[in-house]
Amino acid sequence: MNIHEYQAKTLLGKFGVAVPRGTVAYTVKEAEDAAKDLGGPVWVVKSQIHAGGRGAGRFKGNEQGKGGVRVVKSVDEVRENADEMLGAVLVTKQTGPQGKEVKRLYIEEGCDIARELYLSLLVDRATSRITLMASTEGGMEIEEVAAETPEKIITVDIDPATGFMPYHGRQVAFALGLEGKQVGSAVKLLSAMYKAFTSLDASMVEVNPLVVTGAGEVIALDGKMNFDDNALYRHPDVADLRDEDEEDPAELEASKHELNYIKLDGNIGCMVNGAGLAMATMDIIKLRGGEPANFLDVGGGATKERVAKAFKIILSDPNVEGILVNIFGGIMRCDVIAEGVVAAAREVSLQVPLVVRLEGTNVDLGKKILAESGLPILSADDLGDAAGKIVKAVKEAS
Ligand code: GDP
Ligand code: MN
Repeated sequence: MNIHEYQAKTLLGKFGVAVPRGTVAYTVKEAEDAAKDLGGPVWVVKSQIHAGGRGAGRFKGNEQGKGGVRVVKSVDEVRENADEMLGAVLVTKQTGPQGKEVKRLYIEEGCDIARELYLSLLVDRATSRITLMASTEGGMEIEEVAAETPEKIITVDIDPATGFMPYHGRQVAFALGLEGKQVGSAVKLLSAMYKAFTSLDASMVEVNPLVVTGAGEVIALDGKMNFDDNALYRHPDVADLRDEDEEDPAELEASKHELNYIKLDGNIGCMVNGAGLAMATMDIIKLRGGEPANFLDVGGGATKERVAKAFKIILSDPNVEGILVNIFGGIMRCDVIAEGVVAAAREVSLQVPLVVRLEGTNVDLGKKILAESGLPILSADDLGDAAGKIVKAVKEAS
């Protein structure tokens, strides 16, 4: 799960990470009041959407105008900019061309930036450790730095047995060229960030930029946090920060029905049980020259209703031109799957080709239900056959 910048900074601040003072605003009036409370003389009006690149982004219909992060010098300007930004659609490198509507702003005190640095903590699957990543190239996307100047990224693995130690922090601080009291500030900030990461079961914390101010303070100017969904039950306060407006509607709907659904760019919808089989199904679709439209694991013990729900979620994607159902009936019975598929196909009056491959418990009964349904369902015997059939059917239909 993702949260907004202001929420991440509030959480990090509670753990002792230095962040600027600020207030969230949902209306122009709230923005103005927040600005008055903060006192100035410089304010930053920041669009809150679940996407980065806001500073360099542009609002729809005002492409020549300013971006989603604006530094201003009066309460009047805070009000004018808030009025312009709230309700407008911000397009950034990360939102895709459709952009995202700005519904919240963060009004923050401005700060005097001497240097912009990059800092993140993430789980490194290769070392099975939390890794600290830092770079002198703050403000730039780290993917870009990694592609163009990888030598400018430093990584420090943290042994879970010791946790974060001051020397980890000093190693990063010196590599970033910090001096004097900046080193101590940076070590304190890193230690607090690590504490927040582990205490809250985060999967990623990114501060970009981390700034050194003219006065030599080290402050988190931006903040992004991702959390491990499987640990959210331990953090109801974090779970409450979920902003459903920012999530893909189909993925949100799926998560409510305990379906693991991730939308992809292709045109063949997949309904599979088990993550491994789902991955294998996507691979084999690609091998046969097709492109999967989604990853969907309906789980081991899905009911007829859940299968029907999954079917509707797949079809809610306008790119879907065919569906491949690939189910191994272990715990789940093939006849139950078949009933779910038939019920859903009837209910949505299916317009695209559907290939079903069933194997396992009650497979014969399942195939019989499909065959007797009167629906144009293509039955397949194995994985290769199924993938070949759906790729062919989609090509013929288009
Ligand atoms: P992002 O573009 O979505 O990553 O949003 P950021 O929060 O990183 O803001 C973008 C840029 O705005 C930063 O890299 C800074 O250069 C600038 N910025 C943000 N806050 C301030 C501030 O208080 N003062 C000044 N001068 N610039 C700021
Ligand atoms: Mn940023």
